[in-house]
Amino acid sequence: MSDTVAILNDTTRCTGCERCVEACKEEYELGRDRPWREQGAVSDLSSTRHTTIIRRPNEHYVRQQCRHCLEPACVSACLVGAMQKTPEGPVVYDASKCMGCRYCLAVCPYGIPRYEWDRRVPYVTKCTMCIDRIRDGGIPACIEACPEEATVFGTRTELLAEAHRRIAENPGKYQPEVFGEREIGGTAVLYVSDRSLDFLAWKPDLGNQPLPERTWAALHKVPPLMLGVGGLMTGVYWVVGRRMRLASEATLEIKPSGTDRQRPTGESHDGQG
Ligand code: SF4
Ligand code: SF4
Ligand code: SF4
Repeated sequence: MSDTVAILNDTTRCTGCERCVEACKEEYELGRDRPWREQGAVSDLSSTRHTTIIRRPNEHYVRQQCRHCLEPACVSACLVGAMQKTPEGPVVYDASKCMGCRYCLAVCPYGIPRYEWDRRVPYVTKCTMCIDRIRDGGIPACIEACPEEATVFGTRTELLAEAHRRIAENPGKYQPEVFGEREIGGTAVLYVSDRSLDFLAWKPDLGNQPLPERTWAALHKVPPLMLGVGGLMTGVYWVVGRRMRLASEATLEIKPSGTDRQRPTGESHDGQG
């Protein structure tokens, strides 16, 4: 596989200032956080936070965001191709293709994608690694904003080398492994830390085998006709239902209160937040 872009988060440098969170909010006009019953704490990932800081005991801060898996389960699970792995590395979401099934939420091993439960026409939201900035020769907004260089951008090869250099040159400071180097097939967002980050995965010990391989291994045991008919009926139901809702919303909405780059043209938020 050719080299891809990546992010390295060093938890020992993070002060929890959340400038990265603010920069992401500004870049994507995410607005203020809205407490909503389906989400946990307001500081959790949400439709208004594509990245956040997990605060652990003893001033241990861990930046949370999509890992942009090398073999993403969300892409594998999406029947309509709304989740896609780009050639550059980031995993992106196309709202215009999404049928709202939320399989991507169910299969993500890191519990990353969120659903806009508080919208009349909800979509999935998550970090895109600022793919538009990258394609324009820039770097992600959150990286640019970090005053501590606790989060840095580069190619995966150079960031893996940098991560191993930090571990080797600071004996006893870091855990011996680079989180994301191999887990579940590897990720484009890497971590070095002084403590275990196993808590970041939904289930511990997920191993190094990519989830899509396991998903399809299990699916292959289901008769193909059942899969085809079931998938087709589900898809037709959701696509038709979603289009009807969108058409209905388009006539109801008077004036958009904000825009989201990930939304199809012509759709709008419902005015909350
Ligand atoms: S972390 Fe989850 S949402 Fe992000 S690419 Fe991996 S499977 Fe997809
Ligand atoms: S890479 Fe971009 S989308 Fe992802 S958390 Fe940073 S600013 Fe937000
Ligand atoms: S801006 Fe940097 S130091 Fe501040 S919370 Fe984000 S990653 Fe940590």
